[in-house]
Amino acid sequence: MPSPQELGTLLSAWIKAGETWKGKLEIDWHDCRVGLLLPEAEADPYKGCGAGYTHCRITVDRDVTPCVVLPVAVGNLKKHSFAEIWRSAPELHKIRSRDNISSGNCSVCEHKVKCGGCRAASYAWYGDAYAGDPTCWIKPDMPEFGSGTSCKREVRG
Ligand code: SF4
Ligand code: SF4
Repeated sequence: MPSPQELGTLLSAWIKAGETWKGKLEIDWHDCRVGLLLPEAEADPYKGCGAGYTHCRITVDRDVTPCVVLPVAVGNLKKHSFAEIWRSAPELHKIRSRDNISSGNCSVCEHKVKCGGCRAASYAWYGDAYAGDPTCWIKPDMPEFGSGTSCKREVRG
């Protein structure tokens, strides 16, 4: 697993490559922090973590989870329709609100609304989808990774 700083450096390299190859090659990526790094005019489509908000996953057992990498079932299609789960599952309502992030770096971050941190990374590391994001290099949550940012692009407010 890359350190948060390595992740930030990689993301910056991708953004730079996207600018270099604009019009010739479409480079896309997924990271909840992308919208914080792009110029304002290009940042709008990026809404931060979209788990249970812009997408979800359906497993082969028909479980519905908020994201392909967040293994928490919020309902099952054998018992309810997708529309019922998408509209009414309490856990989906909970994860859609950044106000429910209750601990760690994301809970006190000024970018909480625009970014929200990776809920899957939080779950994988802390066993809690509403804790901090251990992969963040902007506001590091992991003392062993050190502080500060190696990301070349300034973070927008
Ligand atoms: S602390 Fe969380 S909300 Fe803030 S930038 Fe990092 S991942 Fe995003
Ligand atoms: S949980 Fe992580 S991988 Fe899934 S949408 Fe949120 S930021 Fe992306």
